[in-house]
Amino acid sequence: MRRDEIAAGLAEVDERITAACHAVGRDRSEVTLIAVTKTRPAGDVRILAELGVRDVGENRDQEAAPKARELAGLPLTWHFVGQLQTNKVRSVVGYADVIHSVDRLRLVEAISKEAVRQGREITCLLQVALDDDPGRGGARPADLLALADEVALAGGVRLGGVMAVAPLDEEPAKAFARLRDLAVALQEQHPRATMVSAGMSADLAEAIAYGATHVRVGTALLGRRKPFVR
Ligand SMILES: *Cc1c(COP(=O)(O)O)cnc(C)c1O
Repeated sequence: MRRDEIAAGLAEVDERITAACHAVGRDRSEVTLIAVTKTRPAGDVRILAELGVRDVGENRDQEAAPKARELAGLPLTWHFVGQLQTNKVRSVVGYADVIHSVDRLRLVEAISKEAVRQGREITCLLQVALDDDPGRGGARPADLLALADEVALAGGVRLGGVMAVAPLDEEPAKAFARLRDLAVALQEQHPRATMVSAGMSADLAEAIAYGATHVRVGTALLGRRKPFVR
């Protein structure tokens, strides 16, 4: 049964997170699991919620918006983790509690304006391009602190911290070490911006070793996704 599969995946991921925490002397409670449910049916999200998961992540508005609407009664925090175009901001602000992919001033302005209009407060994580190439999303490390100041000044948004995806051509640990340094620098200016969203199915232990507070896990929880067809 699907529920048993998901329960087994969840137990396994939870064990991996616990082991990764203990390996570096961190408490398990310092790390939140975000179940990345992109491409999965709403039924999977419902099962996750029944099993006690409270944080779910999605990366495409077209898919996330109807799912969030269908599951609006569940006690879930919705994380938007994909690249975000300004023309989708109105929709995303309607259901997302946390946006992990804030990487440019225009996006900050759009989210702020829409959050104020809808009377919502959106937690914004600044996505960093750890390879210094903003092509796949993420701000350059050198631009991070200026962007943080903009979020801190804007209405309707709260500066939560940083987010990154490990580059494909580098050991994740090395990349996450740079993310940790950036997170420390950010917190010197903005002490409450303590969230570090890093680590996926393949590299969650490395991310936890370098201070991740939120890991975003899909495959290891829910199985391989079908190849994505647009
Ligand atoms: C899909 C996705 C994840 C989860 O990846 P898995 O390898 O399936 O765990 C995490 N973060 C982002 C931004 C994603 O798009």
